[in-house]
Amino acid sequence: ARFLAKRVLRMQESETMRITALAKKMKAEGHDVISLSAGEPDFPTPDFACEAAIHAVQTGFTKYTENAGTPELRKAIAESTKADLGVAYLPEEVIVSNGGKQAIANAILALCDDEDEVIIPAPYWVSFPEMVNLAGGKSVVLETSLESNFKITPEQLQSALTPKTKILILNSPSNPTGAVYSEAEVRALMSVIKGKGIFVISDEMYNKLVYGNTQPFSPAKVEGMRDWVIVSNAVSKTYSMTGWRVGWIAAPKWIVNACGKIQSQMTSNAASVSQKAAIAALTGDQSIVDARRREFEKRRDFMHRALNEIPGVSAALPEGAFYIFPSVKGVLGKTIEGKNLASSLDVAEFLLEKHYVATVPGEAFGAQGYLRLSYAASIENLEKAVSRMKKAFS
Ligand code: PLP
Repeated sequence: ARFLAKRVLRMQESETMRITALAKKMKAEGHDVISLSAGEPDFPTPDFACEAAIHAVQTGFTKYTENAGTPELRKAIAESTKADLGVAYLPEEVIVSNGGKQAIANAILALCDDEDEVIIPAPYWVSFPEMVNLAGGKSVVLETSLESNFKITPEQLQSALTPKTKILILNSPSNPTGAVYSEAEVRALMSVIKGKGIFVISDEMYNKLVYGNTQPFSPAKVEGMRDWVIVSNAVSKTYSMTGWRVGWIAAPKWIVNACGKIQSQMTSNAASVSQKAAIAALTGDQSIVDARRREFEKRRDFMHRALNEIPGVSAALPEGAFYIFPSVKGVLGKTIEGKNLASSLDVAEFLLEKHYVATVPGEAFGAQGYLRLSYAASIENLEKAVSRMKKAFS
């Protein structure tokens, strides 16, 4: 390790690794493990996307494309962004990357200088702080809780600002909490930073997966903010295309160009075949998205009700994405079946080792005392998992 670069040494190993490895091992040993730790839809990629990919292979669309993605895909993204967010982008204001992950990493590398401060509300998606770390910046984490519906307030944002604040990262709907900022909440947050030279990276990965009357609202839509907002999204979650690796940002052209410069030296274009599949996904029959959204909504309602019936467990109703983030603070400090439950990490280990339910402890997302459960699983498995949890805690 003494030969490794400092940038690697200061990176954190994912806290989820231990439990994921344990879950794998237990499954391999033949245990009936129910895994609610996955970050991907359990539905297949739509046929029309797969067919476009097959056609791409058969017609030799298998070479490098433009670094920033094919003009056809960038146009399709600009159009779907306009339709969904109500904000217009030129195809030149879009760059396609290898998944939402690379798209966001590019933007952070392009904007975040040494010592710059990046405000990240917690619980956060695990990669945000590590990307900032890699860029040499400093994460300023703002805590939220079940009581605040996992949303930061304008006052909290205001008090975190310093002359070094460069970026605010918002992820609404949120992974891991499912929280969604309303239009009024987004406007209130933007009025705190408007005119102060602060950028917003708006990770809108789950914007099509919202429930009830929830309406996501993009910060890019706030008057005067479009030039300061980087919207990121991908086909990954909306179209069950996590393995295809197609994501993007829509942003002012100078930022897109900078991301293109980085990408051209690191990876070049996203896979040509995947880009064809992404065009088909974005321009095909969208009714499949809504059908799946409704299925997720049923599961969300079930999980919210069932988890709140477990002693010591308390969950807010997620408004989007496919995760629920219950507090397990009511069981912390207890010793059950010989296992001392001092932290949510202990609780996650206990549930896995003794009751064969795999979850992700809140620690992974910068929030002690919670578990993340993905409801991208069949109702049958969700029912089984919850009844195992109920038995475990009573
Ligand atoms: N942003 C959030 C909030 C996510 O949950 C994920 C995936 O888990 C990503 C970005 C990255 O997605 P992709 O698979 O497109 O790289």
